[in-house]
Amino acid sequence: MGAAATIELAEVKKLPQYQIYKKNNGEITAEPEQLTVPFAGDPYLQYGGAYLGDPKDTPDFKYVTWTAYPKFSEKHGSLMRKHLTEVLFEDLKDKKTGKGYTLSNTIHTGVVNTHLGVGMTAGDEEAYDLFKPLIYPIIKGWHGYDAYTQKHPTDLDPSKLVFTEAQREKFAQYVVSTRIRAARNISGFSLPPGATAVERAGVEKVLKETFAKLDGELKGTYYELGSLTKEQTDFLHGRGFLFQLPGPSSLLTGAGASRSWPDNRGIFHNDAHTALAWVNEEDHCRIISMELEGNIPSVFTRFCKLSTAIKASAESNGAKLMWNETLGFLGTCPSNLGTGLRASVMIKLEAFNKLIETKTDPYLLDYVCAGYELQPRGSNGEFSAAIGSKFDVSNKQRIGFSEVDLVQKMINGVDKVIDLERRLTAGESHLKIREELGFTSDVSIKPGH
Ligand code: ADP
Ligand code: MG
Repeated sequence: MGAAATIELAEVKKLPQYQIYKKNNGEITAEPEQLTVPFAGDPYLQYGGAYLGDPKDTPDFKYVTWTAYPKFSEKHGSLMRKHLTEVLFEDLKDKKTGKGYTLSNTIHTGVVNTHLGVGMTAGDEEAYDLFKPLIYPIIKGWHGYDAYTQKHPTDLDPSKLVFTEAQREKFAQYVVSTRIRAARNISGFSLPPGATAVERAGVEKVLKETFAKLDGELKGTYYELGSLTKEQTDFLHGRGFLFQLPGPSSLLTGAGASRSWPDNRGIFHNDAHTALAWVNEEDHCRIISMELEGNIPSVFTRFCKLSTAIKASAESNGAKLMWNETLGFLGTCPSNLGTGLRASVMIKLEAFNKLIETKTDPYLLDYVCAGYELQPRGSNGEFSAAIGSKFDVSNKQRIGFSEVDLVQKMINGVDKVIDLERRLTAGESHLKIREELGFTSDVSIKPGH
């Protein structure tokens, strides 16, 4: 696709600073070129900082630079906020990777979006090293993994999964679909929050060549996001195959990763839509294996095949994946290191949903999931609502455990969640379940990380 000209103004208006301008002004008056003009109501400037000009700035996005410690509010609950002390800020604030990714770039999304749990992004591989004093404690807090001392294991042998006949029957009753995805990034290119248009195009080129070599069950077609018709897009969204347009207060937008949307973004899929790959969304590539219902071993077997094939194909094209012994596969968000793997089931939990909708116990599912090291999401991805009582429940950790371990943890945890759903449905009190599981604190408070 061509350069930034491909995006319609109507699309731009759905994006970051435009949406925020709109919210504050009541109407959109600024043209893209005018986004440099800071004004009193600009929410990106309410935490201190200024638009000092960043080489990565585009007509649709400007990065804020903080030369003094950001003015955090009590709403900032992220691990970034927790670990970024004033002393550490002073130590790191003038550091910049060889590709020009700064501390301000790193913390940008977590400062402008108070709801995020991790609250930071990496713009390239070097950022993980340069900003280690901030990132390693965040990794510890999110995954319980000590990057200073541990090594990350890999295991892509699906025959090691344990999925009993009883579990198969149980999952068949509650699980609508299963999806296993992982982040894969190409060494040498900046990650989306730090990428230039040239790098983004370079990544797309490498991946297109990589997809072209997939064969057998994995053989498929790559579609540029900007070339999809409305019907195609609606179909792909309807089935959960395609990523969403990043919203104004999403992790991606706040990180600058939705700049020049939809250029060089795209989706690859096989004919059956069971092997998919996303290009230049949060990571260079997200590989995805998915199918209807709850046959976890089948989805994991295809995932392992896809992972191995993508690695081999990329390497045969002279590309190397971002990976090291300590952090495993590297990605944009520290929540996706190591395996980068998220194994999720779309699961119908009517009793839990009733507790949320009636506000009787809105966070019981969060507590239960946290207890099994799982993460619940809504039906359309992170921070969305559970439509028709459908939740996306997945493993929370990505690093320090192998692929097999994490899928197993998801199976075992979801098995327990289903047991509790059955007990709630049978009329057992949510308070009794809370007491039994040791969640005795205020039902209106969400569990921390
Ligand atoms: P990720 O970061 O893993 O890609 P997101 O929360 O961004 O996940 O969601 C991506 C999309 O994948 C969403 O549209 C979501 O509904 C869909 N999705 C996630 N898990 C499943 C599943 N098990 N079955 C069907 N769709 C799913
Ligand atoms: Mg996502």
